[in-house]
Amino acid sequence: MRKSVKVGNVVIGGEAPVSVQSMTTTKTADVERTISQIKRLERAGCEIVRVAVQDEEDAKAIRRIKEQIEIPLVADIQFDYRLAILSIDNGADKIRINPGNMSRDRLKDVVAAAKGKGIPIRVGANVGSIKRRTSERWKDLAESALEEVRLLEKEGFYDIVVSVKSSDVLETIKANEYIAEKIEYPIHLGVTEAGVSETAVVKSSIAIGHLLLKNIGDTIRVSISGDPVREVIVGKKILIALGLREGVEVIACPTCGRAEIDVENMAKMIEENFFHVQKRLKIAVMGCVVNGIGEGKDADLGVAGLRDGAVIFVKGEIKERVSKEFVLERLKHYLNELLEEVER
Ligand code: SF4
Repeated sequence: MRKSVKVGNVVIGGEAPVSVQSMTTTKTADVERTISQIKRLERAGCEIVRVAVQDEEDAKAIRRIKEQIEIPLVADIQFDYRLAILSIDNGADKIRINPGNMSRDRLKDVVAAAKGKGIPIRVGANVGSIKRRTSERWKDLAESALEEVRLLEKEGFYDIVVSVKSSDVLETIKANEYIAEKIEYPIHLGVTEAGVSETAVVKSSIAIGHLLLKNIGDTIRVSISGDPVREVIVGKKILIALGLREGVEVIACPTCGRAEIDVENMAKMIEENFFHVQKRLKIAVMGCVVNGIGEGKDADLGVAGLRDGAVIFVKGEIKERVSKEFVLERLKHYLNELLEEVER
């Protein structure tokens, strides 16, 4: 079993469930906007948040941000050891650094500060920080990350999380499989610079999904350009789809000429309303009753379109006909019944 580390009140590694994290896009020193973005991330289910620390103002802002948020905060420092120490002094629950960019004495100071507060350090490599270049780039990536790990171990520091990230799916997979064989520290998974919208979702789902199915990975960050809330939603959906997390899965038919309801919008509305429910439940949204009930019968709860309304069905059995404006209300009613049943 992998080692574990504690980031605030969240455990990464060991037997802990895989956690979902994200990173803010605000200037960290803009405390108000940063807090407001973190609150949105928390509501979406983010479990660890990372902020960029570019200067002293950012590092000092950590203390004020932490007073207002519930989830642990990670300070992301590129190379300045003083900012790493200042972030730790201001209450960061974990730092991410690149020890290869620091002299040994400076690294010693950072390690001493982290040890003093009992917080972990994340190290690793991405394609931009590879030290050696051979024809096997995934291996260069993995070896660069392992070098960073050894730098911390030399200082007697073992509270480590490791990441190896590439924008290439296969490189990310191979590099992570390699380090998983070599070390026992918890692994942070992600595809870096994954891209925008569907591209990022597809790449992250393949790489993260493949690795988690092989039992590799203890915390995940889906990188998507834009609003980070989407990263959390996609991260949680990956875990639900793999059966690693309880949650509501909304299935929807692709629609065809027989569709009697707006499947896409109804499915989105249902997702938004039930995403917070942490129970393994499947809700089906089907365009028509003719094929919909049969196709959606393995769902716990479903709705299928009629010319003048919709039917609600529970485990394949029709419960009632409703007009379209009451679909959500009635689904909530049956969902509550199902939840009560699960809890009994
Ligand atoms: Fe078409 Fe009905 Fe099947 Fe949806 S459930 S794809 S509307 S036949």
